[in-house]
Amino acid sequence: MLRTVLPLLYTLSLLGCGSAPPARPPADSLQPSSPIPEAPPEVQPHPDARQRPSELLASEDPEDLFKAERHYAGMGTEILIEAYGDQQALLERALDAAVAELERIEVKMTSWNDTSELSSINLAAGDAPVVVSEELYALIERALYMSELTNSCFDISYAGAGKLWDYKAAQPKLPDEAAVAAALERIGWQKLVLDAEARSVFLPQEGMRIDLGGIAKGYGVERAMEVLVEHGIKIAMVNAGGDLKVRGKKAGQTWRIGIRDPRHKEHMFAIIPVANTSVVTSGDYERFFEVDGVRYHHIIDPRSGKPSQGVTSVTVIARSAEFADALATGIFVMGAEAGLALVERIREAEAVIVDDQLDVHLSSGLQTAKEK
Ligand code: ADP
Ligand code: MG
Repeated sequence: MLRTVLPLLYTLSLLGCGSAPPARPPADSLQPSSPIPEAPPEVQPHPDARQRPSELLASEDPEDLFKAERHYAGMGTEILIEAYGDQQALLERALDAAVAELERIEVKMTSWNDTSELSSINLAAGDAPVVVSEELYALIERALYMSELTNSCFDISYAGAGKLWDYKAAQPKLPDEAAVAAALERIGWQKLVLDAEARSVFLPQEGMRIDLGGIAKGYGVERAMEVLVEHGIKIAMVNAGGDLKVRGKKAGQTWRIGIRDPRHKEHMFAIIPVANTSVVTSGDYERFFEVDGVRYHHIIDPRSGKPSQGVTSVTVIARSAEFADALATGIFVMGAEAGLALVERIREAEAVIVDDQLDVHLSSGLQTAKEK
């Protein structure tokens, strides 16, 4: 039964406002008709992508448990962490440690100042390799793996063009084509020179830049949850602006995670029940500007150097928040068809893709769930 497994809460009838129609349920025609001949080989998350085996936890009743939470602005978004347990003091300590971990990661990996470890790589572009921490080196390696997986659509070197699309400017404007063309010359993850022995990263062209905005939040969520677990927390949620991971069950119930209607943010068009997993959404509605009715958002197609077209939101469900984060961004650029085909090759990853016609595409695992 749809309602118990994937209750898709279409909001059309509830809405009276807004110019765009709400997201539409998937048409029956989207159901796969026949198996694809010569299915490509299954692909996996990078072996080092942080993920913990899911655990079946005895149901514990939050009524009897204490709850602690932190809600604050961090990693360029809104962070909410909730934890349940039988000792309030322990919960508070665990949450403080998780917040500190997120802050540590942000300081190291932000591209919004010149002092982060990440920025030291960008500042030396075209000049010299930079020796970095094991942590940053490994994350960059995993980011490059995600580029391979997504047919180069996830590409941290997109940043060679990223700042041309300044949605933060008081009066955002379109960059000129010549600037975009010049920036394209600096994009391409294959150009990065990684030296494992020296643990160095080199951007060989002047003006090349990398940015971890499409993966570091997921990594942070994964690390924050690890810190909670190290403190003995069994029931928790870490949510960094829609990149979230849950652990355990509240009152023996799965967590119910809503997926926003990309054109009516305040409405959820689907609720997914999950436990011990991550749900990550990339949308074109968080950071964008519009010129002549066209939306220019923050996910750049590395092939054009311009905001990608064709998709309005991608939600990925997978164990690892880091993997789901990068995959959602990659699929956003790949488009609904190629993105779904990729998800079908990844065991344990599912996706909900809303295209620019506001049609909803579900991966086969969710279709099965919906049919039950
Ligand atoms: P959000 O930041 O809203 O959670 P995403 O996880 O999709 O959304 O990340 C978008 C961010 O990823 C952008 O702000 C930018 O920092 C980075 N990014 C943009 N385009 C790409 C791309 N093609 N590949 C990798 N990262 C990208
Ligand atoms: Mg992402």
